[in-house]
Amino acid sequence: MGEQQSLRILYLYPDEMNLYGDRGNVLALRRRAEWRGFAVEVIARGIAQPLNWDLVDLVFMGGGEDSHQARIVDDFLALGESLLPRLEAGLPMLAICGAYQLLGQSYQTAEGQVLPGLGFFDAWTEAGRERAIGDVVSETTLTGAPKTVVGFENHGGLTYLGSSATPLGRVLLGRGNNGKDGTEGAVKRHVIGTYLHGSLLPKNPHLTDLLLNWALSYRGRDEELAPVDETLEWAAHRVIVARAKRERADDLRKK
Ligand code: GLN
Repeated sequence: MGEQQSLRILYLYPDEMNLYGDRGNVLALRRRAEWRGFAVEVIARGIAQPLNWDLVDLVFMGGGEDSHQARIVDDFLALGESLLPRLEAGLPMLAICGAYQLLGQSYQTAEGQVLPGLGFFDAWTEAGRERAIGDVVSETTLTGAPKTVVGFENHGGLTYLGSSATPLGRVLLGRGNNGKDGTEGAVKRHVIGTYLHGSLLPKNPHLTDLLLNWALSYRGRDEELAPVDETLEWAAHRVIVARAKRERADDLRKK
């Protein structure tokens, strides 16, 4: 037997940035890597804590309330100096909601304060008048079939993509980035920004494996991930897609 492969996931600000089960995404990454025989280490890094980038194969950061985003933003901007060149070089990252907003140019809180972002995504977020809350189904070309991505959103901010940004998907159900242009999330290099929270990776194994593949290729290890039994995950996924289809049909009937 060869040496056991390792996978190291950096979890940024787990105390401040962890809403609606975001931590479940880290658990899904860990579990699907362990099923393939990887030894997984999760490195939690809070404000002002040291970090050895050589140990990081994949980055995760969850969503947060406005006050929590304001609390971490200075540290995140400082971290950007070492994070941004690595993201440009292909380090994969999953950024949910409040983290996605801070990877854009700016985030305007519900109270009107404008927090600067890292500007990785050509996107900005304005305060909306009402929160977007509920199930989301989107379609992406990033993964193979099925193209659907399911999840749950809860945000006040409205995100607008600039001309050089690529959306992660287009919404079939839910509001997504801003409730107007049909886009959801953003993708650049191997970084996914999305409004979909903690049920994202557990219910979207194709997205989880894409991130794991990106982590392997960042380390120059382009090997195939062995297939695993994911009957339950797809059953959960299909329940949400079926519900979305029913809701859309009901809406159309009412019109
Ligand atoms: N505070 C941000 C907003 O309301 C992000 C919320 C979140 O991460 N769910 O838009």
